[in-house]
Amino acid sequence: MNTREMCVTENGLDLAAINPSNGLQFSPNLYRFLRKQGSTRAKTWRVFRDGDNTLWVGLLDDGWLHGARLMGILCYGAREQAWAHVPGSIGDLQEIPQFWADYMRIGRCAIDPEHRMSFIGDETRWLVHGNERSCLWCGNAHQRLETWVEEVRHERWVTG
Ligand SMILES: [Zn+2]
Repeated sequence: MNTREMCVTENGLDLAAINPSNGLQFSPNLYRFLRKQGSTRAKTWRVFRDGDNTLWVGLLDDGWLHGARLMGILCYGAREQAWAHVPGSIGDLQEIPQFWADYMRIGRCAIDPEHRMSFIGDETRWLVHGNERSCLWCGNAHQRLETWVEEVRHERWVTG
């Protein structure tokens, strides 16, 4: 019997606030995944970064992580499986305490603050003006298109 007391505190995430009907910055797949997991998990699961920079969503309980990779959730939505990962199997996990607050504010830009990744629905992210574009999801990123030409040297053997 497990007599250890578990202290599970709420994570501050308001699931209704990240419904993609509120804005396309919110991942439909992350929303579906959390809904399928149920309200207790949606209220208590947190976001962690491992030593390889992979993000995980889940509950860390005495070294066990119950949860799934964030990228798997973004790709597969409700079909992504949450597992219990044995202590040590993922490595050192650091919680990102402000993750859900950031996500509620700027959606998937909280996952990619550098604005280097592509997401499902990326076409709704950028407003393009000629060689420049700005992010509609967070309203706070601006990029310009860089163009360059590379010289490519080819060689092959020919008869002669
Ligand atoms: Zn952005």
